[in-house]
Amino acid sequence: MNRKNAWTTYSATQLKTVEKFADDYKVFLDNSKTEREAIDTIVNEIEAAGYRELNTLIGGKTKLKKGDKVYSVWMNKSIAMFQIGSDPLEDGMNILGAHIDSPRLDVKQNPLYEDGGFAYLDTHYYGGIKKYQYVAMPLAIHGVVVKKDGTTVQLNVGEDEDDPVFFVSDLLIHLAQDQMEKKASKVIEGEALDLIVGNRPFVIDNKPEKAEKESAKLSAGEKYAIAAEKEEKAESGKVSGAVRRGILAILNDLYGFEEDDFISAELEIVPAGKARDAGFDRSMILGYGHDDRVCAYPSMKAILDVKAVKRTACCILVDKEEIGSVGATGMRSKFFENAVAELMNLTKEGYNDLALRRCLANSCMLSSDVNAGFDPSYASCFEKKNASFLGQGLVFSKFTGSRGKSGSNDANAEFIAEIRKAYDKDGIIYQTAELGKVDVGGGGTIAYILALYGMNVIDAGVAVLNMHAPWEAISKADLYEAYRGYISFLKNIDFKNQ
Ligand code: MN
Ligand code: MN
Repeated sequence: MNRKNAWTTYSATQLKTVEKFADDYKVFLDNSKTEREAIDTIVNEIEAAGYRELNTLIGGKTKLKKGDKVYSVWMNKSIAMFQIGSDPLEDGMNILGAHIDSPRLDVKQNPLYEDGGFAYLDTHYYGGIKKYQYVAMPLAIHGVVVKKDGTTVQLNVGEDEDDPVFFVSDLLIHLAQDQMEKKASKVIEGEALDLIVGNRPFVIDNKPEKAEKESAKLSAGEKYAIAAEKEEKAESGKVSGAVRRGILAILNDLYGFEEDDFISAELEIVPAGKARDAGFDRSMILGYGHDDRVCAYPSMKAILDVKAVKRTACCILVDKEEIGSVGATGMRSKFFENAVAELMNLTKEGYNDLALRRCLANSCMLSSDVNAGFDPSYASCFEKKNASFLGQGLVFSKFTGSRGKSGSNDANAEFIAEIRKAYDKDGIIYQTAELGKVDVGGGGTIAYILALYGMNVIDAGVAVLNMHAPWEAISKADLYEAYRGYISFLKNIDFKNQ
């Protein structure tokens, strides 16, 4: 079968558009390192484009009509966007779906301790990572701390040039004789992924008693740390380290939270720094979290840019894919179905259960997630005819899963033919691929969950090199073809099962 390299198809004007789209995407990546940050960035952009929050319309007199744009956010981590088409909802929607969570280290609920003169935050990794990739590199902390009074403190430390960064230590090679003999999965154990956050003991005038008397000079955080020390001494007879106490004082001064507030925090540790062009030819982008923001971003852009659709256009960007789409904000949650029910209720046809089921069953979906791009250094893990290549456009995977396609959504041939027809008409550069060769591994996406409604779903997405590593690589051309392909899908697909 013929494969086309997207770069060879662009005019000079198109090349400029590809570059501009990539630049905007890099800004999106930098502003969206957690699912909450992604939702904030997306909501800002879509509200500016005229999207209204679905919840604000519930109970009102507004009836949604053709061309109206609404969205629904769930727990600040997942979003469904809709642009009403001219066809009745019951006839189905064209849906773009992707996920906005990425592998990382999460801070535990009781994280702060001191050992060997270092203050640490204990972590639990999230999603599939090679643990050895997270050591000896600059890391940033992003997230929220929600206090008992309901106020939320936002944290984002390690991204500005003047910010401090954090790190997980690794052993000097000269001392690593035993470590180097270990299997890669054991070289760095999960419990060894603790973040170094400080090394300087908390000292006030070298005489805490005197300092206490001069308490007017102390900051709120210092007072809090001294009080915490006293309390500890009274309860257990001993005190934990002074470095740890220093960190508590700083956290209290900077963010106004106390140690117990870690209990209701969501702090994520991610690679520090911005996404950057890669290669002398600047054809690629090296960045954190391409999986799956490289599909989420063009999906959002496509629904923003597509006009006057026949079938209602929908874009769902969800959390928790990396841990199996579980939880209230994962794709297995009912939040999406509920949002469609509310949407239907706001149209002139109104809601009923049968209409909702028909709407979902008649829908077509591109479940977009990244594909493992062919890597010549690891060629033996791929079957070249059925692998994706960077630069060769949007990747379709008829199935994912592992072994005998276990756990996959095997897309229907009739549906795929419909997409081919649309893409050839619009000149979209696309390729087909499996995730690695047969029996070498595998992976799942959100496709099979939407397929439960009986709708047509196919996995689509962008090829990624070093997927799930702290810094992943994609081709700018593939990002652009994904965007073009998503628009073509929303505009052209008008397909129902017989
Ligand atoms: Mn993914
Ligand atoms: Mn993934």
